[in-house]
Amino acid sequence: MIILKTRREIEIMKKAGRLVAQSHELVRKNIKPGVTTKELDRLVDDFLKSQNAIPTFKGYNGFPFSICASVNEEVVHGFPSDRELREGDIISVDIGATFEGYVGDSAKTFLVGEVDEEKKHLVEATKQCFYEGIKYAKASYRLSDISHAIQAYAESQGLSVVRDYVGHGVGKKMHESPQVPNFGKPNKGPRLQEGMVLAIEPMINAGVYNVKVLENNWTVVTVDGKPSAHYEHTVAITDGEPELLTVI
Ligand code: MG
Ligand code: MG
Repeated sequence: MIILKTRREIEIMKKAGRLVAQSHELVRKNIKPGVTTKELDRLVDDFLKSQNAIPTFKGYNGFPFSICASVNEEVVHGFPSDRELREGDIISVDIGATFEGYVGDSAKTFLVGEVDEEKKHLVEATKQCFYEGIKYAKASYRLSDISHAIQAYAESQGLSVVRDYVGHGVGKKMHESPQVPNFGKPNKGPRLQEGMVLAIEPMINAGVYNVKVLENNWTVVTVDGKPSAHYEHTVAITDGEPELLTVI
């Protein structure tokens, strides 16, 4: 069942979302060669707690950190660690915050210093996939219209769409119905309606779409070792244009 949100609930979700966006800005300002992903985790954890928000990921199904930090061939669910970022890396940072009982969820991929053209194109195209998708995040379209638009754009750019992980509804819980795949035929699934809130999150690979999970049972990597990028916002369906909730 898809839980529709009232205007009042969406206003609270915007507060949660704003804290996520501010966390991303904090990460952006601190990303440079030599910084460790654990330091980024600590910054976000401290910031969210200072704002009376709960880092949603910490303890979620046992996930041990406040952010997911996925470098290069890591797709999602990377563990922050003592690994130092290096010039030329890309890092996908996924952040969730719970505020007044509601969740905001957003991911961005950042460049570390000068990055090669393949990675730069991947990161820009992944962001564009999100914007292609939300052209259909409007009442009267159907859910898979978003999915299809994302896949069509990714493949037009010579990139591939991760199949094993998808977007989702968001509300009091981080993962609600429906699932929001980044691939599929158009005109399928539920019709979108005002009050739905969706985390739309293309996960896009430079090489093949196949992924595997590392021995820590969390970190997802590409099977071919090529880089992957991630771009996500929490989006409300309205009576007009989609409303991004995870923005400042
Ligand atoms: Mg996320
Ligand atoms: Mg999500």
